[in-house]
Amino acid sequence: MTVRTSRPGRLLLGGLLTLTTALAGPVATASPAAAAPTGTPASSGPLAAAFDTAATRYDVPRDLLMALGYAESRLDPEAGTPSAAGGYGIMHLASNTQVHTLEEAAGLTRLTPTVLRAEPAANILGAAAVLRSYADQTGLTAAARDDVNGWYAPVARYGGATDPSVARLYADTVYDLLRTGFTSARGEAVAARPVAPRRGGLERAAVLGGIGTLSTDYGPAAWAPASTSNYTVASRPGSHPVNRVVIHMTQGSYAGSISWFQNPAAKVSAHYTFRSSDGAVTQSVREKDIAHHAGNWTYNTRSIGIEHEGYVDNPAWFTDAMYRASAALTRSLTTRYGIPRDRAHIIGHVEVPGATHTDPGPNWNWTYYLQLVNGVTGIGSGTVNTESANLNVRSGPGASYPIVGSVADGATVSVYCQAVGSTVTGPYGTTSIWNRIGTNRYVSDAFVLTGYDGYIPNVPRC
Ligand SMILES: [Zn+2]
Repeated sequence: MTVRTSRPGRLLLGGLLTLTTALAGPVATASPAAAAPTGTPASSGPLAAAFDTAATRYDVPRDLLMALGYAESRLDPEAGTPSAAGGYGIMHLASNTQVHTLEEAAGLTRLTPTVLRAEPAANILGAAAVLRSYADQTGLTAAARDDVNGWYAPVARYGGATDPSVARLYADTVYDLLRTGFTSARGEAVAARPVAPRRGGLERAAVLGGIGTLSTDYGPAAWAPASTSNYTVASRPGSHPVNRVVIHMTQGSYAGSISWFQNPAAKVSAHYTFRSSDGAVTQSVREKDIAHHAGNWTYNTRSIGIEHEGYVDNPAWFTDAMYRASAALTRSLTTRYGIPRDRAHIIGHVEVPGATHTDPGPNWNWTYYLQLVNGVTGIGSGTVNTESANLNVRSGPGASYPIVGSVADGATVSVYCQAVGSTVTGPYGTTSIWNRIGTNRYVSDAFVLTGYDGYIPNVPRC
């Protein structure tokens, strides 16, 4: 049994206590007449109060703040370590050569960078202060601040991208989350709503993946070239045989990572980056050129580097959509370069000699990925039969994993992969097979009519 240990509470409570103290003192840009948080009914979850406080304090739409945080960190309160781009916390307050939202937040809130980095409530407050200052600089009036659609320019600026297409990608991601709604793993929720963001000058920016921004190496990919400081021009495979694929996690958001590769100070890049939510992919370095991703020149010269949006410690990022899209690329690469489809040639960054990085980490499922790469790509389907109540959904393949939801008797579920877990007896017999029906969501096969005794053909193991 491997139950993920959680460390809730301590940082958050510490943050709120410190924040309460800080708010008793002067605040540089307090809203004169703080409006009530706008949008949907009050959210639950441990961060709800912090978002309400920050939204009220700086008169920023609460749901917009939450959507930005969800895009950056999935609202993971443990997101305290720096991202690859030098960003911190739930709101990714950043301190790098191109983006200084951390320092700006410190100036506006009079909270120290240490507190802003480490304490979730302070981090959220700092982001709200920065967004509000950007809104003031764009001339957004007090009367217009309740409308999320007027905050597009401040959100795009917060992301820090220099390329207009990437700036648009960053802000569109936030507005897409407002449009679809979302619920974090700990219960913070924003309901879906219609949005019509006023993009201003960015309305004319090319949409990544549209005309003029397509990869010429891999059809499904968009093209957003990295800074020439961050890769080495070559003529592969002629100059260097390509014999490995190296798997990474970004330690940052999709748009933020693509943007980081465009920053000349980054000194890093990857060929491709995948988005967690839907498996969208952007190419930053041509396959013929050498991306700087593995931290080992020999490996860099002979590999393709693939980044995946997310943080190694948070399983919420590891979606089936991303696995399947990435595996399709790796299958294409292995075909085109004659690379064996095995773990000796499809490796994690952590496995590169001399690696100082741990990605993709223990949440990356190699069994599942390698089967997808090898063409076992089916998605099964089944009907749940509980004979009465709802069926518990668990975070892992076993009755000892935490319950993370339920499905109704008679519901149809998709089966992305099947795992061996604890033995369960149900309407369809006794089995140790568990079906993964979503990201970190499992149900026992003893309660699912799939049409097969045991494993479903062409559905991967996980
Ligand atoms: Zn890496």
